[in-house]
Amino acid sequence: MLFYALLDRAFPNSFPIKVFAVAFVGTHVPLIAVVIYALIQTGGIAAHLDVLALLLAATLTGCGGTLAGLWALLAPVRRMNGAIESLERGDSIPALPDRHRDEIGALMRLTNLMADSMLRRQQQAQTAAQTDPLTGLPNRRGFDARVPQQAPGAILFLDLDRFKRVNDTYGHAIGDDVLRQAATVISAALRREDVVARFGGEEFVIWLPGATRDTAWSTGERLRLAIAGSVRVAEQPVTASIGLALCAAEDRRETVIARADAALYAAKHRGRNRVVERCEEAGGETFAFAPGRSLRAV
Ligand code: GH3
Ligand code: MG
Ligand code: MG
Repeated sequence: MLFYALLDRAFPNSFPIKVFAVAFVGTHVPLIAVVIYALIQTGGIAAHLDVLALLLAATLTGCGGTLAGLWALLAPVRRMNGAIESLERGDSIPALPDRHRDEIGALMRLTNLMADSMLRRQQQAQTAAQTDPLTGLPNRRGFDARVPQQAPGAILFLDLDRFKRVNDTYGHAIGDDVLRQAATVISAALRREDVVARFGGEEFVIWLPGATRDTAWSTGERLRLAIAGSVRVAEQPVTASIGLALCAAEDRRETVIARADAALYAAKHRGRNRVVERCEEAGGETFAFAPGRSLRAV
């Protein structure tokens, strides 16, 4: 490292220039030797001009070729440098060639291994950050990553009814089991393209991309019936209230979630275990779907 440290004082910013400096001195040794030889001979340099000129031309040509070769030879180092910088920025990188058996080949293989393991750890961290550990569903961050800011469809805001009583009566562990049951039942009742997330507590938000009012209503009602029919605590059914809001192409996701939340609030106040829609085009009038009854204005 001493020689490297010495050269680093002279050329601190570039490794190729350090290599070129060594090559430059090395390729000029024969020329320097012949100049010294000519100086101590009778007649001095003037008497050997032709040889010196030839040697100078040969040295400069050799030096140019050596520098070009060294620059090309350092290409893997430049590629590794670029790859590590890309990784640092969080970009993915194409794999470096791994068939070479020398020290640079070993370094490229190590760079590939490092890139793979960094990418894997990044993906694991991202998945963990976007997943609710209790139910395995996406959490709010996961929902935001999957659902577009503006797109036509519908949002359902689902909240389990009287869930605090479940915890108070049977304990938190049984409450957790009810949350897992609810997550399984909701997921099973949705289409492949729908997104369900646990927003917190006993609240689940569902995005139905491209859903019409009919689809949104039938999905909401299907979820309500599936929960009331399958989620149990000590043999007793657990029910859910659902707020529904349609999303026009120009509506923002957060506005529609707030509308669905307001509809959920109305569902709780109208007796729970029901779907309620917040209709903006009806001047904010709310329509409720009571269990076993058809759509009605309230
Ligand atoms: P409502 O019908 O009006 O929604 O009544 P509720 O009792 O369901 O609503 P409330 O918001 O009063 O209670 C929600 C409860 O959810 C309170 C809290 O203890 C419980 N909770 C929140 N997160 C968890 C969790 O991760 N596990 C369990 N077991 N309970 C949770
Ligand atoms: Mg609740
Ligand atoms: Mg709640």
